[in-house]
Amino acid sequence: MAKQRTQRRVVVTAGPTHEHVDPVRYLGNESSGKMGFEIARAARRRGDEVVLVAGPVHLPTPAGVTRVDVVSARDMLRATRAAFDEADALFMAAAVADWRPRRRLAGKWRAKDAGADSAVLELVRNPDILASLGRRKGERLVVGFALETGGGLRRAQGKLERKRADYVVLNDASALGADRSSVTILGRDGSRLRLEKRTKRAIAGHLVRLEKPV
Ligand code: C5P
Repeated sequence: MAKQRTQRRVVVTAGPTHEHVDPVRYLGNESSGKMGFEIARAARRRGDEVVLVAGPVHLPTPAGVTRVDVVSARDMLRATRAAFDEADALFMAAAVADWRPRRRLAGKWRAKDAGADSAVLELVRNPDILASLGRRKGERLVVGFALETGGGLRRAQGKLERKRADYVVLNDASALGADRSSVTILGRDGSRLRLEKRTKRAIAGHLVRLEKPV
């Protein structure tokens, strides 16, 4: 009888986070969530048990995947940490907002009432989910992403080290919302794999087959 592979448990994050200023306004970004959803789909197809922690995106949940919807970075941290406690691998594809407004107003922010032509929005740093889970990953596989507009390789290498990831997937802004992307996968062991103009589905297929570097 064929030997059964024990099922891997994988956590994938996807999409942007929204950081609310008031009940109807937020700071967000252009992430479509496509890359993370493709990773979740590819992992499931490979036979993994998958929890997909999704920021606010309108994408259908891949079949067989458990989806947890979140809004803010702090929600995402809580949901991802809880799922990662039970998991073997983390793919941190979400575009987490670095900053959030210090205060979320209970009612609508009424610019006219302020009677001024300018306003200051005070921001505070959000937790770095990847760095915080990277510190406690132990033998688990951790893969991060880096979207860079210049000096990409050097910055991605810095993130790999600072956030204690096993791999960082470097891409550029042309990946936003697109179905295809060119990426370089940097490994903690010094490996570098370049994939040119591949579909996100094909890139996801590569990523879910990565082994933890020794
Ligand atoms: O530092 P930068 O935001 O470019 O790092 C990108 C990587 O770090 C991504 O994998 C992203 O999901 C993760 N990240 C995070 N928490 C943050 C910011 C980024 O987990 N607050």
